[in-house]
Amino acid sequence: AVQLPVALIVAATHGSLGIGRAGTLPWRLPTDMTFFRLVSSAPGESSCQPAVVMGRKSWESIPNKFRPLKNRVNVVLSRTVTDFGSGTHTFSSLAQALSALSRAPHPASTIPPVSSIYIIGGAEIYTEALKHPATSRVILTTVYADEDAVRCDTFLPDFRRTGEWEQKPTADLRRLLCEIKCREAVDLIPEDGDRVRENGLEYEFTLWEKR
Ligand code: NDP
Repeated sequence: AVQLPVALIVAATHGSLGIGRAGTLPWRLPTDMTFFRLVSSAPGESSCQPAVVMGRKSWESIPNKFRPLKNRVNVVLSRTVTDFGSGTHTFSSLAQALSALSRAPHPASTIPPVSSIYIIGGAEIYTEALKHPATSRVILTTVYADEDAVRCDTFLPDFRRTGEWEQKPTADLRRLLCEIKCREAVDLIPEDGDRVRENGLEYEFTLWEKR
């Protein structure tokens, strides 16, 4: 069984949970990018780094100069490619990746021990991770965008309506970020339920937990 905390971290439209368009992000949200970087690289109390797990298409969407993602153990899932270069670890299934990450360090493993596991997309990987029993949290940036204007072509399944997941108060998200020693990310969350406003879009950081 997978012992480490597994969380999705994702930005999606409020209405239809749109997350992508033409292989990239449908928006440019600098504060959300900073939030993502801070949270997914926070080691917490541990002396090791978190792991980020992504699909082959999301890996390819990261500009060369930014990959592998710094201060994180990069795991790429693919059924066709076996090696994405130095600083990456490849698996051909999510279950294999999660169990290898939680077993490390294994004598035969090249994968270092990790402090926690973040699923960072895209839709195929999120969809599978939402069904995996080890996944307990979704850190969701809800983007209040006009669906016709952002024209997403890639969506999350609507986990909010399955009854399996419950939205937690913002105070719980702040507490979680403090636990992982990520105060800088706490400072990005507006007071009093205000939304962040950037590039003509409004959005908020939310936390969902499996019931
Ligand atoms: P993914 O990034 O999920 O990659 C899909 C690929 O991953 C597949 O083609 C396959 O690679 C591999 N794969 C999928 N499932 C498995 C599995 N179970 N085991 C092994 N390999 C697997 O692609 P999507 O098209 O679903 O999503 C990409 C879109 O999502 C882009 O537009 C991107 O910008 C967006 N995105 C949005 C985010 C957000 O927060 N808004 C975050 C991340 C991405 P192969 O074909 O090589 O076998």
